[in-house]
Amino acid sequence: MNYREDRYGNRLSILGFGCMRFPQKLGRIDMEETEREIMTAYLGGVNYYDTAYLYPGSEAALGEILEKNGIREQVYIATKLPHSLIKSADALDKLFAEEKKRLRTEYVDYYLMHMLTDIDTWNRLKGMGIEEWIAQKKASGEIRQIGFSYHGNSDMFCTLVDAYDWDFCQIQYNYMDEHSQAGRRGLHYAHDKGLPVVIMEPLRGGKLVNRLPAEATAIFEKYPIPHTPAQWAFRWLWSQPEVTVVLSGMNTDAMVKDNIETASSVKVGELGEAEEAMLQDVVKAINAKMKVGCTGCGYCMPCPRGVDIPGTFAAYNRRYSEGRFAALFDYVMCTALRKNSTAASNCVACGKCESHCPQAIEIRKQLKDARRVLETPAYRVARTVTSWFMHF
Ligand code: SF4
Ligand code: SF4
Repeated sequence: MNYREDRYGNRLSILGFGCMRFPQKLGRIDMEETEREIMTAYLGGVNYYDTAYLYPGSEAALGEILEKNGIREQVYIATKLPHSLIKSADALDKLFAEEKKRLRTEYVDYYLMHMLTDIDTWNRLKGMGIEEWIAQKKASGEIRQIGFSYHGNSDMFCTLVDAYDWDFCQIQYNYMDEHSQAGRRGLHYAHDKGLPVVIMEPLRGGKLVNRLPAEATAIFEKYPIPHTPAQWAFRWLWSQPEVTVVLSGMNTDAMVKDNIETASSVKVGELGEAEEAMLQDVVKAINAKMKVGCTGCGYCMPCPRGVDIPGTFAAYNRRYSEGRFAALFDYVMCTALRKNSTAASNCVACGKCESHCPQAIEIRKQLKDARRVLETPAYRVARTVTSWFMHF
């Protein structure tokens, strides 16, 4: 296993165990299989385990397994605050105590604001005294390091990085999202500020393995180095020194072993120009199934009406490569999970954005088409529910 250091010199395994979806049996977590996989990972050198209050049954299962095997002190636990459920400073204490109880621990190594969406959300938490609360928990040793997880564009990510003295952060990143979400720009921004970066969605929820178009699979198969699509995706990430830990939601023992093997043999900078070019061909093959050739560079931003242009196009493309549910999820994530909607329907066709687009995309026209496809009745329901949820 390879290790990289956090801000305080702790050695973290570059492969982290993502605990969002443990194996299930008869509708419940299969504890026997979960324990087998966690112990395979532990014995293979994995020391970073990422869970959350909102992952059903996950904190309790992880806590039970670590305690049963007497390895709590040998691993790092990352878990998250579901801040949208918090209405007062008292609620922070109550919820955190519940998490510690579930995890059977007196302290949490890495504690994250779960899916911090924008600066308004952070300011709301600040108004509730979150900074004082964090300082108190760090002083008592109950929280060792504080960070946030993020899905959104790179501009807002950089704003959030600068908004507090974080110890680490967590972003979605993979070779398809190199220029969307926080992207390579966000990764480098956080790294340059001294923040370790934990990566989630290295395989885009498995899509870079299970739902590749035949043209993309053929490119991998023809390449003289015989890695699987999953191994290429991980190697692309670990080749970058700015990446600290990559989380993988492993749910078979074979997957755990395969990922350990990759994490043990990979080297920083091992992907050369030829490999990068091959992956670009894969990206092109995937993009060929897409509607708009947006690279997510963000040069068209900010839009005076707040439209998330790259986010909208990413969701629009996803509609044709991965289906309507994946697109709905993406579109809700980038447009509805904030105080002011950033949806395509806010566009007033002023045209300010178009002159900045290096891809010469007819943004106004494409946004209109995207809006027609994405702003379905299902989206409107999701947006209403989300704003209601955020309001409370
Ligand atoms: S054309 Fe639409 S998306 Fe572009 S800057 Fe104007 S309002 Fe924003
Ligand atoms: S400038 Fe063009 S390519 Fe870049 S994010 Fe905007 S629409 Fe996409």
